[in-house]
Amino acid sequence: MSKEKILIIEDEKDIVKMLDYNLKKEGFKTLSAHNGEDGLDMARKENPDLILLDLMLPEMDGLDVCKAIKNEAKTSHIPIIILTAKAQEADKIVGLELGADDYMTKPFSPRELIARIKAVLRRMKEKDKLPEVLRIGDLTIDFSKIMVSIKAKPIELTAKEFELLKTLIKAKGRVLSRDYLLDTIWGFDQALEIQTRTVDVHIQTLRKKIKSEAKRIVTVKNYGYRFQLEPDED
Ligand code: CA
Repeated sequence: MSKEKILIIEDEKDIVKMLDYNLKKEGFKTLSAHNGEDGLDMARKENPDLILLDLMLPEMDGLDVCKAIKNEAKTSHIPIIILTAKAQEADKIVGLELGADDYMTKPFSPRELIARIKAVLRRMKEKDKLPEVLRIGDLTIDFSKIMVSIKAKPIELTAKEFELLKTLIKAKGRVLSRDYLLDTIWGFDQALEIQTRTVDVHIQTLRKKIKSEAKRIVTVKNYGYRFQLEPDED
């Protein structure tokens, strides 16, 4: 399992530094943006596991960033914890209404924030939990036994192929970038050209192996892949 990635969108450099230090100490990966626009951009490109979002931001207000993240298919699943000053109590409510998952009022203790982050991530995992056995068309996946079959005939998948299939299915139809897959399954931080091709090669063999259901793995040009759960989605 790779480390969970937290995106910090906050213009106060001291707070970013403090958060960055404490999150890394807890084993998280961090990214930071110092204004709303860059933050939104990073949320789209980096697919973080959670976002810490300050509300008073230059370029683009925190509430607008929250709204944009929650409205876009690519980012709407990412949980957000809002960081507010005491004077912005009303905005905090708006933020929660816009889909933010929790909030912290400044000043806060890093320890409490980390406890909140872990709670939100845990809730997300519960929500994303897959059943032990999943049937999609001809495909049966037994997640507890790590077994896959097509029309009740078992097929041999390598560990990476199984992980890849599981990750795609878990995304519930969302598009996953090659970089995200590389990071999640192979644990590569930076995608070099040759590594990016690793994903494509594995997708090809996976498609061959799942035969009649191969078309469910849809290529999204120049970006990545998604798994089509509904049979007649297109
Ligand atoms: Ca601020």
